[in-house]
Amino acid sequence: MALKKKAKKSAPNKNGAKKTVKKIPAQSPEKSLQASLIELIKNTSAVLPDDVQKVILEALAREEKNTTAEYAMNIIKANIDLAKKKSQPLCQDTGTVLFYISHPAGFDQNKLTKEIQKAVIKATELGYLRQNSVDSLTGENSGKNIGPGHPSIHFHQHNKKSLQIKLMLKGGGCENVGAQYSLPYTPLDAGRDLDGVRKVILDAVHKAQGKGCGPGVLGVCIGGDRGAGYIESKEQLLRRVDDKNTHKELAALEAEIVVTANKLGIGPMGFGGKTTLLGCKISALNRLPASFFVSISYMCWAYRRQGVELGAHNEIKKWLY
Ligand code: SF4
Repeated sequence: MALKKKAKKSAPNKNGAKKTVKKIPAQSPEKSLQASLIELIKNTSAVLPDDVQKVILEALAREEKNTTAEYAMNIIKANIDLAKKKSQPLCQDTGTVLFYISHPAGFDQNKLTKEIQKAVIKATELGYLRQNSVDSLTGENSGKNIGPGHPSIHFHQHNKKSLQIKLMLKGGGCENVGAQYSLPYTPLDAGRDLDGVRKVILDAVHKAQGKGCGPGVLGVCIGGDRGAGYIESKEQLLRRVDDKNTHKELAALEAEIVVTANKLGIGPMGFGGKTTLLGCKISALNRLPASFFVSISYMCWAYRRQGVELGAHNEIKKWLY
């Protein structure tokens, strides 16, 4: 189908990333969707969003000159610049592929699931994603990044007419230092209150000791069951680093965690230094009276998340970060 209308070109973002809204080519909505999904995967894998780059540069400026911490932050910066310049993955581990879809009522989720799987296979062939998903029992790698639970796709219905697709690529190293606590947690004298929550979050940071490629960002969920808590903690990582929690007490706790963690001296990659955390995002879900879980997802410095809003012909209408 020939499409007459031309989409506007967007200005490059502050970091010069090539996130343009392309002219709509004369192609079917399916082809246009594939092109948009591949572009989303490519950009997410190669370019850190502006808000993440900003806090990384601030962390670099904070470290003392000629220290191992400054050296580590400079390597991270060089890595970010090179990946953007070459449109290549920021890290050899392109991580678990997590999609978050917000769609209008009556949307065909099965159809989009198939299109996403197709795009993931193509993006893997093109090298935007590493062949990274293996059968948990046999260890076999199909080389396609497709299998039970992968990519992980989460659908949410919203009240808008538009389709928004967010993507997060979450590395294995940082996933390994995620943690879940059940309060009360007697080894830390952590009770079922916000002070108990604070203690276990800082305990997770302390135990990680920079493993999982710090400095990073924490997504935390208070409450829920074990499964819902971890899902929600990851969804907290979809928030911008510079946003402010609308819940006053949680906003204060988020800020306090970052300040306290950065006084622990763990530093980038655990080499010592002033920045252990770049951010902390916390939310709460209802829980049973019998349970009080605190679920913590840790995202490394290679904080790859991006999102797009699609237009009427499945073209990229807007970048979300
Ligand atoms: S934790 Fe992050 S930075 Fe470290 S290897 Fe994994 S994806 Fe790369």
